[in-house]
Amino acid sequence: MSKESDCIFCKIVAGDIPCFKLHEDADTIAFMDINPVNPGHALIVHKVHHKDLFEIPAGNIAAVTRTAQKVAKALQTTLEPAGMNLLQCNGPAAKQSVLHFHMHVIPRHMEDGQTMNWELVQGDMDEIGALAEQIRANM
Ligand code: AMP
Ligand code: ZN
Repeated sequence: MSKESDCIFCKIVAGDIPCFKLHEDADTIAFMDINPVNPGHALIVHKVHHKDLFEIPAGNIAAVTRTAQKVAKALQTTLEPAGMNLLQCNGPAAKQSVLHFHMHVIPRHMEDGQTMNWELVQGDMDEIGALAEQIRANM
C-alpha cells in the first residue's frame, strides 16, 4: 500500500496518530476535521496515498465518493442541516493544505457566513465557447 512517511493522513490511516473515526472500509477512512468550518465537518480519504485529483486513479475517487455519500447521509440524519457541500481542493490557489487527496463533507446552514457561496453573474458567451473549444481539444 503506497504511503508517504511525512503525510498526516497516511499516519491517520496507519493508526499512528489518532482521529475521530466515523467509518472505515477496505479502501477508505472517514474522520472528523479538527478545524471544522461548521460542526460535523468530515473528511474522507483513500487509504492509498495520492497527492491530488491529477494523480489519484478514477476508481479511488469513486471509493472516496461512495464513502462521502454515506457520511453525508449520517450527518444529515444527525444534524439536519439546510445544506451540505462536498469540496475537494487541489493546489495552493485552492488552499490544499494536506497533499493526500481527500473530500470534505461540510454541513451548511442558511446564512451561516461561510464563503463557499457565490452570486450568479452571467459570463461572456463568446469567451465561454472559445474556452470550451480549447478544453475539448485537451480531452
Ligand atoms: P485541505 O485544505 O483541503 O487540504 O484540507 C485539509 C484539512 O485537513 C483541513 O480542513 C484541516 O483542518 C484538516 N486536518 C489537518 N490535520 C488533521 C488531523 N490530524 N485530523 C483531522 N483533520 C485534520
Ligand atoms: Zn498520504
